[in-house]
Amino acid sequence: MLQQTQVKTVIPYYQRFMQQFPDIISLANAPQDEVLHLWTGLGYYARARNLHKAAQIVRDQFAGQFPDSVENIQALPGIGRSTAGAILSLACQQHHPILDGNVKRILCRCFQVDGWPGQTRVQKALWSLAEKLTPKQRCGDFNQAMMDLGASLCSRSKPQCSQCPLQTQCLSCLNDTIKQYPNPKPKKNKPVKKTCLLILCNENGDILLEKRPQQGIWGGLWSFPQCQNCQDKAELKSWLESHHYQTCGPVQKLPEFRHTFSHYHLDITPLQIQVKIPPIVMDDNRFLWYSLSKPLKLGLPGPITKLISQLDAGP
Ligand code: SF4
Repeated sequence: MLQQTQVKTVIPYYQRFMQQFPDIISLANAPQDEVLHLWTGLGYYARARNLHKAAQIVRDQFAGQFPDSVENIQALPGIGRSTAGAILSLACQQHHPILDGNVKRILCRCFQVDGWPGQTRVQKALWSLAEKLTPKQRCGDFNQAMMDLGASLCSRSKPQCSQCPLQTQCLSCLNDTIKQYPNPKPKKNKPVKKTCLLILCNENGDILLEKRPQQGIWGGLWSFPQCQNCQDKAELKSWLESHHYQTCGPVQKLPEFRHTFSHYHLDITPLQIQVKIPPIVMDDNRFLWYSLSKPLKLGLPGPITKLISQLDAGP
């Protein structure tokens, strides 16, 4: 949960998650929808899918016991070298360096490491520094201290060098170059994509949701059916016909908005349409009618939760 996300945001999610899934087996046995539901609003949903899959692997291949070798841990989905190092040094007192965002920032500043830390060359240099600096004794304490230092005193925007135990050794503090480190990511304009989300409401006031494919954005979450060019009347008509929906009211265009993903902006036009429930049974489990008054526990992307909250839940 803490990857790319601050502690204060994570705490309520973590508490709800641990209450629902106090151990690996309860997490492994839970339906994916329930796991994603507890992640709703936290973003980066691949983390939730990976955590769930990892719990199932631990259940099935390691008899429910979390592995304690770096190879086995790194083979679990969503766990890279740094997370594996953090788990093993903190939980098993093994000697492994870590290199999360906080540690990268401290090392870049202390050693004036040039280049954006996302570059392979810079990553290599940072790993080699982390390996050299991580002590054999109390490695877990050292790693924890580095993460805490990065999250508190050596923060991204307001480092408090006068209180920092590294102030007499840190090169950027000594040379007054803190603002330059870590070097920023080279700027690249994010492309803009456009889409329509179809909010189909039936006679009972329920809305149609579609489960998204596991791969890609919002993977495994429930969203409104997406239609690239449905602002075009003919496209919309053909989409509705191909899915056997008959409209029974005007198409209402809701305010457009932009949602930004890590690699592109998505301009979304929501179209609200009153339809009749089709006389045929919906294929597989990809679609469901979602009751606004008795909502199911599903994983929903943030913008979809927001749109749903703006719809009338009825009497
Ligand atoms: S002295 Fe300042 S820049 Fe250097 S590690 Fe400490 S807080 Fe960060």
